[in-house]
Amino acid sequence: MKPIAALKPKSKPARKPPGRRLSPVEKTRVQQIFDRFAATTAHPKTELNYKNPYTLITAVALSAQATDVSVNKACGPLFAVVDTPQKMLALGEDGLIQHIKSIGLYRTKAKNVMATARILMQQYGGQVPLNREALQTLPGVGRKTASVVLNDLDIEPAIAVDTHVFRVAHRLKLSKGKTPDQVEHDLMAIVPAPYLTRAHHWLILHGRYVCVARRPKCEICLIADLCPSRELFVGQ
Ligand code: SF4
Repeated sequence: MKPIAALKPKSKPARKPPGRRLSPVEKTRVQQIFDRFAATTAHPKTELNYKNPYTLITAVALSAQATDVSVNKACGPLFAVVDTPQKMLALGEDGLIQHIKSIGLYRTKAKNVMATARILMQQYGGQVPLNREALQTLPGVGRKTASVVLNDLDIEPAIAVDTHVFRVAHRLKLSKGKTPDQVEHDLMAIVPAPYLTRAHHWLILHGRYVCVARRPKCEICLIADLCPSRELFVGQ
C-alpha cells in the first residue's frame, strides 16, 4: 500500500456553498464559537484508528450505529494483519466475522466490507478511489461515510452529520434542519471557511463529551456564553 500522501489528489480549497445568510451579530457569534474550538483544540482528529485510506474506509463503515471505542477494539487486531483489500479477500468473510462480531450489525457489515474489497481489486487496482462519486458507489458507503473519509484525508472539506453533530448544531441554533443533509448544508454555509475541515471533529467531540444528549455539561462548556440553549439546561 502506498503512503496516504502518495494517494491523495491535491486538496481542494474550501468553497462555501450558497445557503443560509447570517446577520452580522450571528456571523460574529458563529465566528467566536469556532475561534474558541480552534484555540482549545487546534488539530482535532477522528477517534477511529486507521493506517491508510483502506483501513479508514473500513473503520468508518464498521462504525455505523457503533461506538468508536468498540470499532477500535475490534479493528486493532484486524488491521495488524489486514490493511489492504487484497488481504481482506484472503481473510474471507468468516475470518472477518471472527474479528468484528462484537460490533453491531456485523453480518451485514462483513458482507459490505467483502463486496467493497472485491470492487476495489477489480475496478481500482486495490486502491481506494478518493472522490465522492466513486466512494458512494461502494457497498455500505453512504454520503456520511464518504464525507468522513474525504474530510479526514484532507481531500474535500465536509461536515458529516451524525447524531452528535445534529444535536449540537440545533442547540447552538446553527441549523433548524430536520434531516442530516439539511443540517450539513446549513453548517457548510455558515462555518467560517478556514474551519470547515475541522468543524466536523469539533462538533462531534463537543457532542460526545460536553453537549451530551441527556444532561449537557453546560457548566464546563467553553461556548456556554454563546449558546442560546444554555438556559434550558441550567439547574437540571
Ligand atoms: S451551553 Fe450547554 S447546551 Fe449549549 S453547547 Fe454548551 S453544553 Fe451544549
